[in-house]
Amino acid sequence: MESKKKGVNTICTHVGAVEDKLFKGAISPLYMSSSYAFQDVDTKRYPRYFNTPNQEALAKKIAMLEHCDAGLIFGSGMAAISTTAMAFLQAGDHIVLQGDIYGGTYSLVVEQFNKFGIEYSFTEGLEASDFEEKIKSNTKVIYVETPSNPLLKITDLRMVSGLAKKHGLISMIDNTFASPINQIPSKFGIDIMIHSATKYMGGHSDMCAGAVACSKESIDKIFHLAKNLGGSLSDYTVWLLERSMKTMGIRVKAQNENAQRMAEFLNTHEDIDTVYYPGLPSHPGHEVAKTQMKGFGGMMSFELREDLDADLFQKSLQLIKASMSLAGVESTVLSPAQTSHTLLGAEERKNRGISDGLIRFSVGIEETEDLIVDIEQALAKVKSKTSVATR
Ligand SMILES: *Cc1c(COP(=O)(O)O)cnc(C)c1O
Repeated sequence: MESKKKGVNTICTHVGAVEDKLFKGAISPLYMSSSYAFQDVDTKRYPRYFNTPNQEALAKKIAMLEHCDAGLIFGSGMAAISTTAMAFLQAGDHIVLQGDIYGGTYSLVVEQFNKFGIEYSFTEGLEASDFEEKIKSNTKVIYVETPSNPLLKITDLRMVSGLAKKHGLISMIDNTFASPINQIPSKFGIDIMIHSATKYMGGHSDMCAGAVACSKESIDKIFHLAKNLGGSLSDYTVWLLERSMKTMGIRVKAQNENAQRMAEFLNTHEDIDTVYYPGLPSHPGHEVAKTQMKGFGGMMSFELREDLDADLFQKSLQLIKASMSLAGVESTVLSPAQTSHTLLGAEERKNRGISDGLIRFSVGIEETEDLIVDIEQALAKVKSKTSVATR
């Protein structure tokens, strides 16, 4: 594909646009039709067949960003994850998943897979031995997520693809946190890349979408199930996502830089205990991250000093908003114990190192000076309350 040689921002801006042949407008026209004239048996256009002009065009952009031949756009990240996983699994098969994984994916597996007769195992850790000890004769898929949510743990992608080849498995990654700007897993031999496009691809906290990129052969397999399950994305949102992705490269680059600065600030702050950010040399995954990521991303987590009220801290922030989602241009925080990881239960959260006071921080594109002022004023409020309480 000659356009594979184009730079990443050029792909973001230009690839996969729908040409406006009629008026020569600068941007893709939006085709909202849910009904198209019959062409032939192989090209029946219909939104649930994932093949309207806007859907097909955007899939090309995502495929090219992931250095893959083909892509599909879904109605949500979970539609992409569930459809893709189930496309490669049937009753009697087994899947090995990384233990640290997005809460919704964990729920999908533990709440639904049993009834389809699909067996699963979660790894204890992220080393090769942790994965290998779970692989069985009926294992078909190995599924990872790196950096992980919420502790930003790093899984070695070369190790994962090596295991997949050795045992004849399909390897899948949830590449949402890194985005294709920071990490191209196919370069390290991973077969299938999945995204919640709700996050960095959308980037403005105003849509819900998902995406998959892989070989044409695998896309055909995923599509076969996708048209049955019906998780396609409305053309209006496809169009909005294409618009958003034009700036993904520069947004994510700004978020990388801001996050690095904020991580260094928090890491040396006397009121902050621990910072989890793969861009810090002290992070256990830093060395591996350097070999597989072009930037360390905009996500991190941190813990306040134990005597400080993490809840009150989050409520005292003014510029940085509390938010369930992440990866928008605006900075947000969330308490995993109270939101995304409640389902795990206190015991399991403790096992995984997710403390009740852990704060997940999605760094936006604001000036870091303003973010620092906001954090300082919130800490000051918390400390004044703490000293009153202990007096
Ligand atoms: C948000 C998210 C998902 C789920 O995506 P939806 O668009 O909400 O369905 C999956 N994986 C990760 C890492 C996420 O952050």
